[in-house]
Amino acid sequence: MAEVIDLKRRAGAQRKERQALAQRRAGAVAAALSCGLCPRRCAHCGLAIEDPPIASSPAPYPFCGPCLEEYQAYCRREQGDASVEAFWHSPQWAEMWRAWLAHMRASDHFRRSPEFLRLMDAHQD
Ligand SMILES: [Zn+2]
Repeated sequence: MAEVIDLKRRAGAQRKERQALAQRRAGAVAAALSCGLCPRRCAHCGLAIEDPPIASSPAPYPFCGPCLEEYQAYCRREQGDASVEAFWHSPQWAEMWRAWLAHMRASDHFRRSPEFLRLMDAHQD
């Protein structure tokens, strides 16, 4: 009988442990994506943006000056401009921008999903 009680107690402790882990994971997802886009912080490198973003900027995210120049160089390259503006503008550099932009679009899409909104409701302080 004591063994049955011990097994039930252990199962209950394991269930609470799994719930606590799930709570921490949900909190981490909410925290990582809830502050993903701050208009005063560069979306690419994370540095604070001194000047407010230019309203007419064609960039889809707030960038600091150097990251905006890199993004625009990437766009020119994608539109067929074959001139290499900097030695690091390699195919891998272009792939990094392509993957980063795809990641940002996927994050935006997830932020608008009902599941993410439910997660944010559950994790508002
Ligand atoms: Zn930047």
